[in-house]
Amino acid sequence: MNINKDKDYMADVDYFIERFGASLSPEAIIKEDILRQGISFGDEPTGENFSSKSYFIFSFNVDNDGSVINKKYPEEISVKNGPYNLRRTIISVRINKTSPYKVKLDPASNEYKLYLEGNFIGDVFFSPEKSYMLKKTGSGKSVRDVAPTIEWGYLIYLAVFRMCQYFENHTECAFCDMNSNYVNQKKANKNYSAVKSVGDIISALSIIESSEDSEAKAYTLTGGSIIDEIKFKGDTEIDFYVRFLEAIEEKFRGKWLSKVVVQAHTQKNLKRLKSAGAYIYHTNFEVWDKNLFEKICPGKSKFIGRDKWIKRIVDAVSVFGEYKVIPNFVAGIELSEPYGFMDIDDAVNSTAEGLDFFMSKGVIPRYTTWCPEKTSKLGKLGNSSAPLEYYVKLLLKWHELHYKYNLPVPEGYGSAGAGKAEFSVSAFMDAFKVETLQNL
Ligand code: SF4
Repeated sequence: MNINKDKDYMADVDYFIERFGASLSPEAIIKEDILRQGISFGDEPTGENFSSKSYFIFSFNVDNDGSVINKKYPEEISVKNGPYNLRRTIISVRINKTSPYKVKLDPASNEYKLYLEGNFIGDVFFSPEKSYMLKKTGSGKSVRDVAPTIEWGYLIYLAVFRMCQYFENHTECAFCDMNSNYVNQKKANKNYSAVKSVGDIISALSIIESSEDSEAKAYTLTGGSIIDEIKFKGDTEIDFYVRFLEAIEEKFRGKWLSKVVVQAHTQKNLKRLKSAGAYIYHTNFEVWDKNLFEKICPGKSKFIGRDKWIKRIVDAVSVFGEYKVIPNFVAGIELSEPYGFMDIDDAVNSTAEGLDFFMSKGVIPRYTTWCPEKTSKLGKLGNSSAPLEYYVKLLLKWHELHYKYNLPVPEGYGSAGAGKAEFSVSAFMDAFKVETLQNL
Protein backbone atom coordinates (compact mmCIF):
# COMPACT_ATOMS: atom_id res chain seq x y z
CA MET A 1 0.00 0.00 0.00
CA ASN A 2 1.31 3.44 -0.87
CA ILE A 3 -0.09 5.90 1.65
CA ASN A 4 0.94 8.93 -0.40
CA LYS A 5 -2.60 9.72 -1.47
CA ASP A 6 -2.63 13.42 -0.72
CA LYS A 7 -5.02 14.98 -3.18
CA ASP A 8 -5.16 18.66 -2.43
CA TYR A 9 -1.69 19.66 -1.25
CA MET A 10 -2.65 23.25 -0.56
CA ALA A 11 -5.59 22.21 1.60
CA ASP A 12 -3.32 19.83 3.50
CA VAL A 13 -0.77 22.54 4.22
CA ASP A 14 -3.51 24.95 5.33
CA TYR A 15 -5.01 22.30 7.58
CA PHE A 16 -1.76 21.38 9.30
CA ILE A 17 -0.64 24.98 9.71
CA GLU A 18 -3.97 25.93 11.22
CA ARG A 19 -3.88 23.01 13.66
CA PHE A 20 -0.17 22.77 14.48
CA GLY A 21 1.40 26.01 13.25
CA ALA A 22 1.38 27.46 16.76
CA SER A 23 3.23 24.52 18.27
CA LEU A 24 5.61 23.70 15.43
CA SER A 25 5.70 26.94 13.37
CA PRO A 26 4.32 27.30 9.83
CA GLU A 27 7.92 27.35 8.61
CA ALA A 28 8.61 23.83 9.90
CA ILE A 29 5.44 22.44 8.35
CA ILE A 30 6.01 24.01 4.93
CA LYS A 31 9.65 22.94 5.01
CA GLU A 32 8.77 19.30 5.63
CA ASP A 33 6.26 19.38 2.80
CA ILE A 34 8.80 20.84 0.38
CA LEU A 35 11.53 18.42 1.45
CA ARG A 36 9.34 15.37 1.09
CA GLN A 37 7.99 16.35 -2.34
CA GLY A 38 10.99 18.12 -3.82
CA ILE A 39 10.89 21.15 -6.07
CA SER A 40 10.53 21.72 -9.79
CA PHE A 41 11.88 24.77 -11.56
CA GLY A 42 10.06 26.58 -14.33
CA ASP A 43 13.35 27.05 -16.14
CA GLU A 44 16.94 26.41 -15.25
CA PRO A 45 18.02 29.50 -13.31
CA THR A 46 20.41 31.49 -15.44
CA GLY A 47 22.73 34.40 -14.88
CA GLU A 48 22.38 34.06 -11.14
CA ASN A 49 25.26 34.10 -8.70
CA PHE A 50 24.27 31.22 -6.45
CA SER A 51 25.86 28.13 -4.96
CA SER A 52 24.83 25.21 -7.14
CA LYS A 53 24.14 21.66 -6.09
CA SER A 54 27.47 19.95 -5.46
CA TYR A 55 26.01 16.43 -5.16
CA PHE A 56 28.14 16.22 -2.06
CA ILE A 57 27.26 12.66 -1.06
CA PHE A 58 23.90 11.42 -2.39
CA SER A 59 21.99 12.97 -5.25
CA PHE A 60 19.18 14.21 -2.98
CA ASN A 61 17.09 14.46 -6.15
CA VAL A 62 13.96 12.50 -6.92
CA ASP A 63 14.81 12.81 -10.64
CA ASN A 64 18.37 12.19 -11.72
CA ASP A 65 18.35 11.89 -15.49
CA GLY A 66 20.60 13.94 -17.73
CA SER A 67 18.01 16.68 -18.08
CA VAL A 68 18.46 17.34 -14.35
CA ILE A 69 22.05 16.66 -13.46
CA ASN A 70 23.48 18.57 -16.42
CA LYS A 71 21.72 21.73 -15.30
CA LYS A 72 22.65 24.13 -12.56
CA TYR A 73 20.23 24.34 -9.65
CA PRO A 74 20.82 25.94 -6.25
CA GLU A 75 22.05 23.76 -3.38
CA GLU A 76 19.46 25.36 -1.12
CA ILE A 77 16.80 28.00 -1.25
CA SER A 78 15.36 30.18 1.44
CA VAL A 79 11.69 31.08 1.38
CA LYS A 80 10.24 34.18 3.01
CA ASN A 81 7.00 36.16 3.30
CA GLY A 82 3.94 34.95 1.40
CA PRO A 83 0.49 34.20 2.84
CA TYR A 84 1.96 32.53 5.96
CA ASN A 85 4.37 35.40 6.66
CA LEU A 86 7.25 32.98 6.61
CA ARG A 87 10.44 33.93 8.32
CA ARG A 88 13.57 32.96 6.36
CA THR A 89 13.36 29.19 5.93
CA ILE A 90 16.37 27.36 4.47
CA ILE A 91 15.52 24.27 2.47
CA SER A 92 17.68 21.76 0.60
CA VAL A 93 16.80 21.62 -3.11
CA ARG A 94 15.63 18.20 -4.26
CA ILE A 95 14.70 18.22 -7.90
CA ASN A 96 11.42 16.47 -8.67
CA LYS A 97 10.15 17.35 -12.11
CA THR A 98 6.56 16.61 -11.14
CA SER A 99 6.55 18.25 -7.72
CA PRO A 100 3.56 20.47 -6.98
CA TYR A 101 6.10 22.97 -5.60
CA LYS A 102 7.45 25.09 -8.41
CA VAL A 103 10.03 27.90 -8.39
CA LYS A 104 9.44 30.43 -11.15
CA LEU A 105 10.93 33.72 -12.16
CA ASP A 106 8.36 36.47 -11.82
CA PRO A 107 8.86 38.63 -14.93
CA ALA A 108 7.37 41.74 -13.31
CA SER A 109 9.79 41.86 -10.38
CA ASN A 110 12.53 39.71 -11.90
CA GLU A 111 12.55 37.77 -8.61
CA TYR A 112 12.04 34.10 -7.94
CA LYS A 113 8.81 32.94 -6.26
CA LEU A 114 7.61 29.61 -4.91
CA TYR A 115 4.18 28.27 -5.83
CA LEU A 116 2.25 25.26 -4.60
CA GLU A 117 -0.18 24.11 -7.27
CA GLY A 118 -0.11 27.65 -8.62
CA ASN A 119 -0.67 29.29 -5.21
CA PHE A 120 1.98 31.78 -4.14
CA ILE A 121 3.90 30.51 -1.09
CA GLY A 122 6.80 32.94 -0.72
CA ASP A 123 9.75 34.83 -2.14
CA VAL A 124 12.72 32.65 -3.01
CA PHE A 125 16.42 33.34 -2.53
CA PHE A 126 19.19 31.02 -3.68
CA SER A 127 22.08 29.84 -1.50
CA PRO A 128 24.81 32.46 -1.89
CA GLU A 129 27.94 31.58 -3.78
CA LYS A 130 31.02 31.79 -1.58
CA SER A 131 34.28 32.96 -3.06
CA TYR A 132 36.15 29.82 -1.96
CA MET A 133 33.84 27.45 -3.83
CA LEU A 134 35.28 28.65 -7.14
CA LYS A 135 38.91 28.20 -6.11
CA LYS A 136 41.17 25.21 -6.72
CA THR A 137 43.24 23.08 -4.36
CA GLY A 138 46.98 22.68 -4.87
CA SER A 139 46.32 19.65 -7.10
CA GLY A 140 43.80 21.54 -9.23
CA LYS A 141 40.56 20.13 -7.74
CA SER A 142 37.67 22.49 -7.16
CA VAL A 143 36.78 23.37 -3.58
CA ARG A 144 33.12 22.79 -4.52
CA ASP A 145 33.99 19.16 -5.17
CA VAL A 146 36.43 18.61 -2.30
CA ALA A 147 34.93 20.62 0.56
CA PRO A 148 31.59 22.22 -0.35
CA THR A 149 29.63 24.09 2.27
CA ILE A 150 25.92 23.55 2.81
CA GLU A 151 23.38 24.85 5.34
CA TRP A 152 23.85 28.37 3.95
CA GLY A 153 27.60 28.17 4.55
CA TYR A 154 27.44 26.83 8.14
CA LEU A 155 28.70 23.28 7.47
CA ILE A 156 31.73 22.10 5.49
CA TYR A 157 30.82 18.73 4.06
CA LEU A 158 33.80 16.40 3.67
CA ALA A 159 32.54 13.24 1.97
CA VAL A 160 35.92 11.65 1.49
CA PHE A 161 34.76 8.21 0.30
CA ARG A 162 31.80 8.40 -2.07
CA MET A 163 31.52 4.68 -2.80
CA CYS A 164 30.00 2.54 -0.05
CA GLN A 165 31.26 -1.04 0.14
CA TYR A 166 27.80 -2.30 1.04
CA PHE A 167 26.88 -1.82 -2.63
CA GLU A 168 29.59 -4.25 -3.68
CA ASN A 169 27.86 -6.88 -1.56
CA HIS A 170 24.37 -5.87 -2.76
CA THR A 171 23.58 -5.03 0.83
CA GLU A 172 23.27 -1.27 0.49
CA CYS A 173 20.58 0.57 2.42
CA ALA A 174 17.47 0.50 0.25
CA PHE A 175 16.95 4.28 0.40
CA CYS A 176 20.55 5.11 -0.58
CA ASP A 177 21.81 6.16 -4.03
CA MET A 178 25.43 6.90 -3.14
CA ASN A 179 27.13 4.69 -5.72
CA SER A 180 24.71 5.42 -8.56
CA ASN A 181 25.04 9.11 -7.77
CA TYR A 182 28.80 8.74 -8.14
CA VAL A 183 28.43 7.00 -11.51
CA ASN A 184 25.97 9.64 -12.78
CA GLN A 185 28.04 12.53 -11.55
CA LYS A 186 31.20 11.11 -13.04
CA LYS A 187 29.48 11.06 -16.44
CA ALA A 188 28.42 14.67 -16.07
CA ASN A 189 31.65 15.92 -14.51
CA LYS A 190 34.88 14.02 -15.02
CA ASN A 191 36.45 15.79 -12.05
CA TYR A 192 33.90 14.41 -9.57
CA SER A 193 35.97 12.31 -7.18
CA ALA A 194 35.14 9.07 -5.36
CA VAL A 195 38.04 9.08 -2.92
CA LYS A 196 39.59 12.30 -1.73
CA SER A 197 43.14 12.76 -0.56
CA VAL A 198 44.24 14.23 2.76
CA GLY A 199 46.29 16.77 0.82
CA ASP A 200 43.28 18.02 -1.13
CA ILE A 201 41.15 18.27 2.01
CA ILE A 202 43.80 20.30 3.84
CA SER A 203 44.33 22.50 0.82
CA ALA A 204 40.59 23.16 0.42
CA LEU A 205 40.16 23.86 4.13
CA SER A 206 43.07 26.29 4.05
CA ILE A 207 41.31 28.19 1.26
CA ILE A 208 38.06 28.26 3.24
CA GLU A 209 39.85 29.31 6.42
CA SER A 210 41.42 32.30 4.73
CA SER A 211 38.27 33.41 2.86
CA GLU A 212 36.65 36.53 4.23
CA ASP A 213 33.17 35.37 3.32
CA SER A 214 33.45 32.02 5.10
CA GLU A 215 30.85 31.57 7.85
CA ALA A 216 31.51 27.89 8.43
CA LYS A 217 31.27 26.75 12.04
CA ALA A 218 31.47 22.97 11.71
CA TYR A 219 32.58 20.20 9.42
CA THR A 220 31.28 16.72 8.80
CA LEU A 221 33.76 14.01 7.89
CA THR A 222 31.92 11.18 6.22
CA GLY A 223 31.61 8.73 3.39
CA GLY A 224 30.46 5.24 2.56
CA SER A 225 31.09 2.30 4.83
CA ILE A 226 34.36 0.39 4.71
CA ILE A 227 33.78 -3.18 5.82
CA ASP A 228 36.46 -4.25 8.26
CA GLU A 229 36.74 -7.77 6.79
CA ILE A 230 37.32 -6.27 3.34
CA LYS A 231 39.23 -3.03 4.04
CA PHE A 232 40.06 -0.30 1.54
CA LYS A 233 43.62 -0.42 0.27
CA GLY A 234 44.58 -2.18 3.49
CA ASP A 235 42.81 0.33 5.73
CA THR A 236 39.99 -0.43 8.11
CA GLU A 237 37.25 2.20 8.28
CA ILE A 238 38.81 3.72 11.38
CA ASP A 239 42.33 3.75 9.88
CA PHE A 240 40.95 5.54 6.84
CA TYR A 241 38.94 8.27 8.57
CA VAL A 242 41.38 8.82 11.44
CA ARG A 243 44.06 9.84 8.94
CA PHE A 244 41.86 12.71 7.73
CA LEU A 245 40.80 13.71 11.21
CA GLU A 246 44.33 13.85 12.54
CA ALA A 247 45.53 15.98 9.65
CA ILE A 248 42.58 18.38 9.92
CA GLU A 249 42.76 18.73 13.67
CA GLU A 250 46.51 19.13 13.69
CA LYS A 251 46.26 22.11 11.36
CA PHE A 252 42.92 23.68 12.30
CA ARG A 253 42.14 22.55 15.86
CA GLY A 254 39.39 24.69 17.38
CA LYS A 255 38.51 26.37 14.11
CA TRP A 256 35.44 24.24 13.37
CA LEU A 257 33.41 21.78 15.42
CA SER A 258 34.08 18.27 14.11
CA LYS A 259 31.42 15.67 13.36
CA VAL A 260 32.23 12.19 12.12
CA VAL A 261 29.82 9.79 10.43
CA VAL A 262 30.95 6.16 10.40
CA GLN A 263 29.50 2.75 11.26
CA ALA A 264 28.84 1.61 14.83
CA HIS A 265 32.23 0.76 16.27
CA THR A 266 33.78 -0.81 19.34
CA GLN A 267 34.86 1.43 22.17
CA LYS A 268 38.50 0.82 21.25
CA ASN A 269 37.85 2.22 17.77
CA LEU A 270 35.77 5.09 19.11
CA LYS A 271 38.59 6.09 21.42
CA ARG A 272 40.86 6.35 18.37
CA LEU A 273 38.33 8.66 16.72
CA LYS A 274 37.95 10.72 19.85
CA SER A 275 41.67 11.14 20.41
CA ALA A 276 42.11 12.10 16.75
CA GLY A 277 39.71 15.00 17.31
CA ALA A 278 36.15 13.78 16.70
CA TYR A 279 33.73 15.83 18.82
CA ILE A 280 30.31 14.59 17.65
CA TYR A 281 29.82 10.95 16.70
CA HIS A 282 27.12 10.15 14.16
CA THR A 283 26.44 6.51 13.57
CA ASN A 284 23.25 6.44 11.66
CA PHE A 285 20.54 4.03 12.68
CA GLU A 286 18.17 4.86 9.79
CA VAL A 287 15.04 2.99 10.95
CA TRP A 288 14.05 1.65 14.36
CA ASP A 289 11.70 -1.26 13.65
CA LYS A 290 13.62 -4.56 13.83
CA ASN A 291 12.10 -6.10 10.71
CA LEU A 292 12.50 -2.90 8.70
CA PHE A 293 16.09 -2.43 9.84
CA GLU A 294 16.93 -5.91 8.57
CA LYS A 295 15.09 -5.44 5.29
CA ILE A 296 16.07 -1.83 4.53
CA CYS A 297 19.60 -1.90 5.96
CA PRO A 298 20.86 -5.39 5.02
CA GLY A 299 24.52 -4.36 5.13
CA LYS A 300 24.27 -2.89 8.59
CA SER A 301 22.40 -6.01 9.68
CA LYS A 302 24.84 -8.43 8.11
CA PHE A 303 28.15 -6.83 9.00
CA ILE A 304 27.32 -5.48 12.46
CA GLY A 305 23.75 -6.35 13.43
CA ARG A 306 20.94 -4.32 14.93
CA ASP A 307 21.48 -5.25 18.60
CA LYS A 308 25.19 -4.53 18.42
CA TRP A 309 24.53 -1.27 16.57
CA ILE A 310 22.18 -0.13 19.33
CA LYS A 311 24.55 -1.17 22.10
CA ARG A 312 27.47 0.62 20.45
CA ILE A 313 25.45 3.83 20.12
CA VAL A 314 24.64 3.77 23.81
CA ASP A 315 28.18 2.78 24.82
CA ALA A 316 29.58 5.63 22.71
CA VAL A 317 28.22 8.12 25.25
CA SER A 318 30.96 7.09 27.67
CA VAL A 319 33.57 7.99 25.02
CA PHE A 320 32.14 11.19 23.51
CA GLY A 321 30.00 12.39 26.40
CA GLU A 322 26.29 13.02 26.88
CA TYR A 323 24.48 14.59 23.90
CA LYS A 324 27.48 14.16 21.62
CA VAL A 325 26.28 10.93 20.06
CA ILE A 326 23.74 11.76 17.36
CA PRO A 327 22.43 8.89 15.22
CA ASN A 328 20.29 9.77 12.23
CA PHE A 329 16.97 8.30 11.17
CA VAL A 330 15.75 8.57 7.58
CA ALA A 331 12.24 9.66 8.41
CA GLY A 332 9.54 8.32 6.13
CA ILE A 333 11.08 5.02 5.05
CA GLU A 334 8.97 3.27 7.70
CA LEU A 335 6.08 3.79 5.26
CA SER A 336 7.89 2.56 2.15
CA GLU A 337 6.80 -0.42 0.11
CA PRO A 338 7.07 -3.37 0.21
CA TYR A 339 8.03 -3.83 3.87
CA GLY A 340 6.82 -0.69 5.60
CA PHE A 341 3.92 0.05 7.90
CA MET A 342 0.45 0.49 6.43
CA ASP A 343 -0.56 3.09 8.95
CA ILE A 344 0.94 6.51 9.71
CA ASP A 345 0.50 6.24 13.47
CA ASP A 346 2.17 2.83 13.56
CA ALA A 347 5.14 4.33 11.72
CA VAL A 348 5.41 7.33 14.04
CA ASN A 349 4.98 5.17 17.15
CA SER A 350 7.71 2.81 16.02
CA THR A 351 10.22 5.58 15.42
CA ALA A 352 9.13 7.30 18.64
CA GLU A 353 10.03 4.14 20.54
CA GLY A 354 13.57 4.42 19.16
CA LEU A 355 13.77 8.15 19.85
CA ASP A 356 12.56 7.62 23.41
CA PHE A 357 15.05 4.81 24.02
CA PHE A 358 18.04 6.78 22.75
CA MET A 359 17.04 10.06 24.37
CA SER A 360 16.68 8.29 27.74
CA LYS A 361 20.36 7.30 27.42
CA GLY A 362 21.85 10.75 26.78
CA VAL A 363 21.88 10.25 23.00
CA ILE A 364 20.17 12.82 20.75
CA PRO A 365 18.82 11.05 17.68
CA ARG A 366 17.84 13.35 14.83
CA TYR A 367 16.31 12.75 11.46
CA THR A 368 16.50 13.76 7.84
CA THR A 369 13.41 13.82 5.66
CA TRP A 370 13.48 10.93 3.20
CA CYS A 371 14.05 11.91 -0.43
CA PRO A 372 12.82 8.95 -2.53
CA GLU A 373 15.51 9.11 -5.19
CA LYS A 374 14.50 7.10 -8.25
CA THR A 375 18.01 5.66 -8.43
CA SER A 376 17.77 3.99 -4.99
CA LYS A 377 16.30 0.52 -4.43
CA LEU A 378 13.18 1.99 -2.85
CA GLY A 379 12.90 4.49 -5.69
CA LYS A 380 13.15 1.74 -8.28
CA LEU A 381 10.25 0.02 -6.55
CA GLY A 382 8.13 3.07 -7.34
CA ASN A 383 8.05 4.58 -3.86
CA SER A 384 7.11 8.17 -3.36
CA SER A 385 7.33 10.28 -0.24
CA ALA A 386 5.59 9.71 3.08
CA PRO A 387 2.57 11.98 3.73
CA LEU A 388 2.79 15.36 5.40
CA GLU A 389 0.69 14.05 8.30
CA TYR A 390 3.50 11.65 9.16
CA TYR A 391 6.09 14.46 9.28
CA VAL A 392 3.87 16.70 11.39
CA LYS A 393 3.29 13.90 13.89
CA LEU A 394 6.98 13.02 13.96
CA LEU A 395 7.98 16.64 14.58
CA LEU A 396 5.51 16.82 17.47
CA LYS A 397 6.80 13.57 18.91
CA TRP A 398 10.49 14.44 18.54
CA HIS A 399 10.01 17.71 20.40
CA GLU A 400 7.78 16.15 23.06
CA LEU A 401 10.47 13.58 23.84
CA HIS A 402 13.30 16.10 23.64
CA TYR A 403 11.43 18.21 26.18
CA LYS A 404 10.60 15.17 28.35
CA TYR A 405 14.29 14.34 28.77
CA ASN A 406 15.27 17.99 29.14
CA LEU A 407 17.89 17.72 26.42
CA PRO A 408 19.90 20.58 24.97
CA VAL A 409 19.75 21.75 21.36
CA PRO A 410 22.17 19.40 19.62
CA GLU A 411 25.58 20.89 18.92
CA GLY A 412 26.80 21.19 15.38
CA TYR A 413 23.43 22.02 13.84
CA GLY A 414 23.58 25.77 13.81
CA SER A 415 20.81 27.97 15.09
CA ALA A 416 17.47 26.71 16.35
CA GLY A 417 14.02 28.13 15.80
CA ALA A 418 11.91 29.32 12.91
CA GLY A 419 13.62 32.03 10.89
CA LYS A 420 17.02 31.05 12.26
CA ALA A 421 17.64 27.39 11.49
CA GLU A 422 20.30 26.57 8.91
CA PHE A 423 19.91 22.79 8.95
CA SER A 424 18.33 22.17 5.59
CA VAL A 425 17.31 18.52 5.29
CA SER A 426 14.59 18.31 7.93
CA ALA A 427 12.67 20.78 10.06
CA PHE A 428 13.50 19.52 13.53
CA MET A 429 15.73 22.57 14.14
CA ASP A 430 13.10 24.99 12.78
CA ALA A 431 10.46 23.66 15.17
CA PHE A 432 12.23 24.68 18.38
CA LYS A 433 10.06 27.26 20.10
CA VAL A 434 11.43 30.46 21.57
CA GLU A 435 9.94 29.67 25.01
CA THR A 436 11.59 26.24 25.02
CA LEU A 437 14.95 27.65 23.98
CA GLN A 438 14.87 30.14 26.85
CA ASN A 439 14.51 27.28 29.32
CA LEU A 440 17.33 25.14 27.92
S1 SF4 B 1 25.83 2.78 4.96
FE1 SF4 B 1 23.87 2.73 3.88
S2 SF4 B 1 23.26 4.90 3.75
FE2 SF4 B 1 25.44 4.88 4.23
S3 SF4 B 1 26.44 5.02 2.26
FE3 SF4 B 1 26.29 2.83 2.75
S4 SF4 B 1 24.42 2.13 1.80
FE4 SF4 B 1 24.36 4.39 1.84
